[in-house]
Amino acid sequence: MSAKRDYYEVLGVERNAGEDELKKAYRKLAMQHHPDRNPGDAQAELKFKEAAEAYDVLSDERKRAQYDQYGHQAFAGGGGAQYSNIEDIFQAFGHVFGGDGGIFGSLFGQRRPQSGPRPGRDLKIVLDLTLEEIDAGVDRTVSIKRHESCTTCTGTGLGAGGTKKRCTTCAGRGQVQRNQGFFSVAAPCPTCRGAGETIDKPCGTCRGSGREAREGEVEIQIPAGVEEGMRLRITGQGDVGEPGAPRGDLYVVVREVEHKVFTRSGSDLVTEVPFSFAQLALGDKVEVPTLRGKVEMAIPPGTQSGKVFRLRGQGLPSLDGSGRGSQLVRVFLEVPTKLTDRQRDLLREFNEIEEEKTGSKSFFERIVDYFN
Ligand SMILES: [Zn+2]
Ligand SMILES: [Zn+2]
Repeated sequence: MSAKRDYYEVLGVERNAGEDELKKAYRKLAMQHHPDRNPGDAQAELKFKEAAEAYDVLSDERKRAQYDQYGHQAFAGGGGAQYSNIEDIFQAFGHVFGGDGGIFGSLFGQRRPQSGPRPGRDLKIVLDLTLEEIDAGVDRTVSIKRHESCTTCTGTGLGAGGTKKRCTTCAGRGQVQRNQGFFSVAAPCPTCRGAGETIDKPCGTCRGSGREAREGEVEIQIPAGVEEGMRLRITGQGDVGEPGAPRGDLYVVVREVEHKVFTRSGSDLVTEVPFSFAQLALGDKVEVPTLRGKVEMAIPPGTQSGKVFRLRGQGLPSLDGSGRGSQLVRVFLEVPTKLTDRQRDLLREFNEIEEEKTGSKSFFERIVDYFN
């Protein structure tokens, strides 16, 4: 396949398309390329997945904003949905089609009960990251409890001398037909729970499931520049599947830890730095903290409290590798609460000189003028 197509182009909508329009466009495509209507057509399956991925991003306000800004690069670190499996799509978007029945009601309804070995469940963990870690990117080893193959029976589910037999309830199909109103619906077999086989002497450790919960370590590489709420998918690190089926995936959701000094605004960092009246009036050079040490910053004479200075390149890196944002330094006046006698005398003298100055009206006089 060539380069990834634009998501708006995939769904055939304008860039300002609303929620309903997106949903409508996606429904239409999903119906057209639905695997049940195009059996064995790999091209249709690709288109079906492509539409689901586009809809996943554009129907989510946050992801859409990222996509609008960075294009496909926004999810290079794994934030976007990648559906390797048609079942994922049904699971993720069943709600789009639910309710109104129609062709989708039945198509999607039929799809859920599966026969054969089931893949492992997807797992989700939340990872707390400091701004320093987000700035540099970080490798983390996390401990997660997940289903692994049972060590006693090596995943077969068989006890000593046990054997597998074809399930008599479903004749090995893993599904049974149930009548629901006018329809006949396929449901997982209640006896073998979809496996198609039963075990006469199951393993005592896992009771025949072939799996047991175990603590395991997973290494996670977080790229620099991730944001709160982003979801990284780590393929094959979820629960182990039934024999012959793949493992589930692990989703890592990013959570930003609040920083003592900086707040974040996209790839910019915002901080406030206090100055004395004299510094603001006379100008000064000071050291300000950045995520990567201190830098010198000059403020000119006559700087007003509240003024924001931009330190380019001192922000966070953007995910698409297009460079760093800025650090925005907001200066504010810190008024001293304790004065020495000498300071008090000097300030009084300063004030007297200010009052003697003519030409410019004081703020108070201007207010009085305004109300007259
Ligand atoms: Zn059965
Ligand atoms: Zn076992």
